[in-house]
Amino acid sequence: MTRHIAAPMPESIRHFMRAGQHPARSTTCPWCHAGAHKPCVIRSSGTPSVNVHHSRKDAWARLTACCTTCQVAPGVPCHKDGRELDGGAVHAVRHSEAEATAA
Ligand SMILES: [Zn+2]
Ligand SMILES: [Zn+2]
Repeated sequence: MTRHIAAPMPESIRHFMRAGQHPARSTTCPWCHAGAHKPCVIRSSGTPSVNVHHSRKDAWARLTACCTTCQVAPGVPCHKDGRELDGGAVHAVRHSEAEATAA
């Protein structure tokens, strides 16, 4: 009898599956002002959303990860040509960094 051994799943994916929610929920949402560990709220209707607002993911990435594009430490906003990105946005690579950190 042969036993099938599944390839180990990357810890990051396991984490997301177990938690069932985006780790950005550990921060407050600057868009809908949902508190830490609370779901985002659809602002027009006031009902909880299953999604996490993009600006919350940006805020979370900014807090937890370095940005390899503009070379800043966690907590420091991303910048381009000496100016902060609009609306607290971060470079795309910072999301991947944050997700790797959260794993
Ligand atoms: Zn939100
Ligand atoms: Zn950046």
